[in-house]
Formats: sequence, C-alpha cells, structure tokens
Amino acid sequence: MTTGGRGSQPEDAHETPLDSAVAGAFQAAASGKILTANLILARMLGSVSPADLIAASTDFGERLCSDPELRLELRRLLEVRGVVRDFEVPVEQTDGGTRWLSVNARAVRDGNGNILRYEGTAADITERSRAEEALRTNLERFQALVANSAEEIVVADADLKLVYLSPSVAHASGYSLEERAKLDALATVHPDDRAIVESYLQEALERPEQPLPFQVRLLRVDGSCRWVEGVVTNLLEQPRIEGIVINYHDITERKRAEEQHQLLAAELLQAQKMEAVGRLAGGVAHNFNNLLTAISGYAELALAGLPVDSDVRADVEEIKRATERAATVAHGLLAFSRRRVSCRESLDLNEIVSEIGMLLRQVIGENVELKTILAPGLKPVEADRSQLEQVIVNLAMNARDAMPEGGTLTIETANLNLSEQLADFDNSPESGRYVALTLRDTGIGMDEETLAKIFEPFFTTKDANHGTGLGLSTVYAIVEEAGGCTLVESQPNEGTTFTIYLPESDSPA
Ligand code: ADP
Ligand code: MG
Repeated sequence: MTTGGRGSQPEDAHETPLDSAVAGAFQAAASGKILTANLILARMLGSVSPADLIAASTDFGERLCSDPELRLELRRLLEVRGVVRDFEVPVEQTDGGTRWLSVNARAVRDGNGNILRYEGTAADITERSRAEEALRTNLERFQALVANSAEEIVVADADLKLVYLSPSVAHASGYSLEERAKLDALATVHPDDRAIVESYLQEALERPEQPLPFQVRLLRVDGSCRWVEGVVTNLLEQPRIEGIVINYHDITERKRAEEQHQLLAAELLQAQKMEAVGRLAGGVAHNFNNLLTAISGYAELALAGLPVDSDVRADVEEIKRATERAATVAHGLLAFSRRRVSCRESLDLNEIVSEIGMLLRQVIGENVELKTILAPGLKPVEADRSQLEQVIVNLAMNARDAMPEGGTLTIETANLNLSEQLADFDNSPESGRYVALTLRDTGIGMDEETLAKIFEPFFTTKDANHGTGLGLSTVYAIVEEAGGCTLVESQPNEGTTFTIYLPESDSPA
C-alpha cells in the first residue's frame, strides 16, 4: 500500500509493517489512546497519516467510534470477554458523512490479568451497509405496499397448506391472520364454489407459471358472503417464491349491480311481452267482439221470426248461448288488454266476497270447502266491480283445478299498513295503506319454473279443454289497473296463496 512518494513525508516515521495489510490496524494503550496505527486506519478515521491520528487520539476509541454508547459497549466487551468480533461502529467524517467500520480487537493482558494494551483491525463496510440499508428499505416498501393494498394475496405450498397471507386478507375476511392460517385452504370458500376452486388449484398444479383467472364466493368470519375476482398462479418452481400464489380483490358491489341489472332487464322484457301480447289480444278481441254482436243480433232476429214450435228454434237458441259464452272470453281478453273502459267506484271487498259466495260455491264444487275470513271494519278500495268479481272467480277456478281430490279454499280480507316496501323486488307493494285479499288453497301447488310464467297470457299447464292460460294474466292486468299488485306463494304439494294488494281508498264505499 505504501508508495515511494509517501516515504518522503515526516509522518511516515510512524508507519509499521501493518501498512501492508488490507485492513486498518491499531494498537492502543489500556487507556484507549492509540499507540500505533497503519496508514489505512489513519485514512479511515479521517487523519492524513498515522502520526496525525496518534497525536489526536486521547480517550478510548474516541476516534474509532463516534457513538459514545457504542464506544462504552466496545470497551465493556473487551474488558469482560477480552475480544470483540465484527463490531460495527460509525465514524463521522469531516465532510459530515458517516463511514461504518467493522472492528475485530482483543485485550492483551499481563500475568496478573491486567490489561496491557488493545490491538485489532478495522474494515470499511460502508458500502456493504449502504447496500443492506437499501435492501431493507426496499423490503419495507414492498411489505408496506402489500399491507396497504386492497389486493389480497395468499400463498400456498404444493400440499395447499397456506404459507403466506397478506394483511388485507384479515381486513376483508374478519379472520385474524393466525386464525385463518390454522384453517384449511378451502375453509373460507363458499361451499357451492369449493369444487370450482379445487379444479382451479388442480389446473394450476398441472400448468406451472400460467395465471388462471377466477371468480368465486368467499365467506367472512360472520358467515356473510362476498364475491372476489383474481388469478391463481403456480410459482412453485420460482426459487424466490416456491408457492402457489393466489391474488384477488372484492367485487361484491359490482356483482350486486350486475345482478340488479339482469333482474331489471328480465322485468322489462316481461313487461314488454305482456304489453305486446295485450295489444295483439285486445285488437283481435275487439274485432271478434264486433262479429259476435252481429251474430248474436241476427240470432235474436231469427228467433223472433221463427214460429214458437219451429224445429230449428232450439238450434238457434244454442247459437245465441254460444255467442254469449264467446263474448265472455272476448271481454276477458279486452280486460287483459285494458281496452275495456273500466268503471271505477269505491267498493267494499267484504261485500263483494259475500255476494258472489253462491257463485263461488258452484265454481269450486262440492269437494272443496269454502272458508271466508272477513276483516271487520275493512277499508274501501277503488276498482271496477265486475272486474274484481272476475279476479275472485278466476282465482277460485284455478284453486278448484288445483284440488281435484278436494280441499279447502280460504278467502280472507285484511287492512294492511306497510311501513316499508314489502319485498326487494319491483312488483312488490310500496309502503302505504292497503286492503289485502287472499285466496289460499290446499292444492297441488307449483314449482319455481311454473311460478315464473303463470302471469303470461296463454301460459297453461292444463289441456286444451280446461285451460286458456288467460285467467291469471287477466287478474294481473285488472289488479295493476286498479293500482295494486298480485303476489303469489307456492310450493309443490304445499298449496298456493294469492294475495292481492289494493290501495286503500279515501272515499267511503
Ligand atoms: P289456466 O287456468 O287456463 O291454465 P291461468 O292463467 O288461470 O290459466 O293459470 C295459469 C297456470 O298457473 C295454470 O295452468 C296452473 O299451472 C297455474 N296455476 C294457477 N293457479 C294455480 C293454483 N291455485 N294452484 C296451482 N297451480 C295454479
Ligand atoms: Mg285459470
């Protein structure tokens, strides 16, 4: 390390053979004052030469370490243990910077154990510490990034044991990381989605390095469900990861919006379908009704012109009766298509139910028992009387068809005050005051698939002689026109309940 040039300087008198070492080297008195040093050490400690360093050195390690506490620690270690290894100390530089030295030193003692002197070496590890510091900062930054990310990260080993969970997993699931780590990998997956997740993991195992996208439902600690979307990637062969990495984020809100959107679209489609069929049916029924009027008029005229004892009289009367029956069908269609002008008045539903009781008994036959539960003080509703009768008769006829072996039809009325919307779907009644009319049968009931279609015109599960599929679509249209709504509850073999909500009217019946 020494050069000829330096040899001419006076300080060189203090240079020792230690100068040829790569590290800084020193000997110090028991007091800590440096006695000898090589040039490298002198430079490390900011002196131009060993002599300069020795002249400036007074106290123990004062030049060697700029941190007083570390200095005491260094001295204590040397006194107690006699030796220190890789002891890292900061050295302040005249330019304000700090260098880091790694010191190895020992205490040399006399026969009585008294310390004669210290000697040791020092290596400059500033660059290494800087690199370590940078690495630490980087690591901390990545940890903070992962911890503060909304993205949840889970790493599993080849046996699907969880080996890493990002803090966001705890935040989003409600489980503490310790709790979650103890559970099975699939424990928080919605039971219906476990098979899918298993197949994703299987696929990941078979296709290393391929990111596989997924959408599944997860359960929070309180049992509630959330949708997440993410990717699973098999990085078992990546030396730095050696795991199956699953990262995902919450999409519950988006899913909810999508579902709402689909529901609305379906409802709109249904409404449009009803509207279109209604128009068509109304148009046909209107023309048909005009023709019927002509047929029945001419039948009337023919009857009037026939002798009382004519052979054909009975036949013509049959024609007249048939036109009357046909007119009922046409009127049903017109009511459904809302072409008929309804005549609205304030009505007492109890009165209507009582009045058509006789007719209803005939409709339902002897096998079916009719029970009526009429609420006292029932509020009036605003509607067309004959239309409301038609609603009750249509529902009663369906109830009869659903109870071929007999049963009970219960008709009930009630005043209702809904403080909030009854259910979270479009056609459910808003908050307000209603009169409810319920028809409950003990019949065969309906499955989901049938229930979804019953209000569609021409939907029927009955054969051509028994069903037109117009009963419920007419009920639906009449009730809607009166500002109300029709709800139905049913299950196969559990009977059926239709409830009609009509807004309470202000004017007395
Ligand atoms: P239709 O009675 O002519 O078939 P509706 O519109 O009155 O037409 O009824 C449609 C369908 O709804 C019926 O075919 C039947 O499948 C079902 N349905 C209606 N009311 C009931 C009920 N009370 N119990 C079981 N099924 C019913
Ligand atoms: Mg019917």
